[in-house]
Amino acid sequence: HNEEAAAKAAAAVAETGAPTIFDKIIAKEIPSDIVYEDENVLAFRDTNPQAPVHVLVIPKFRDGLTMLGNAEPRHVDVLGQLLHASKIVAEKEGILDGFRVVINNGVEACQSVYHLHLHVVGGRQLKWPPG
Ligand code: C5P
Repeated sequence: HNEEAAAKAAAAVAETGAPTIFDKIIAKEIPSDIVYEDENVLAFRDTNPQAPVHVLVIPKFRDGLTMLGNAEPRHVDVLGQLLHASKIVAEKEGILDGFRVVINNGVEACQSVYHLHLHVVGGRQLKWPPG
């Protein structure tokens, strides 16, 4: 199936440590709709939104964080910053009362970009469990 094939291809590229499309977004070589930005974190609207609010929160410096599964003790600070930035995004978007933060990790979770990102999703009634 298409989603799975794309995820597998992305994972194969990730193993090479190649930069991803998010590096171009961070460098502003590709325009994005930025919702929040600070020294270490960038949050921008997903181009294929799955809900009225769908924002990606990413570290500006990947530093080996292709996926959460590669997190090391040195990443603890930035992991906290990403989660806190997700809250700021939810607040700015007016969905603080109900939102979801998702990290897809690896092929089985359909991860397609190998630069850690948190999906902040909301603005409609969400269902559980996710697909
Ligand atoms: O968790 P996953 O890796 O599947 O999510 C990647 C997300 O990045 C997708 O939701 C996709 O729509 C988004 N994306 C984007 N802009 C790009 C490339 C991907 O918003 N240029």
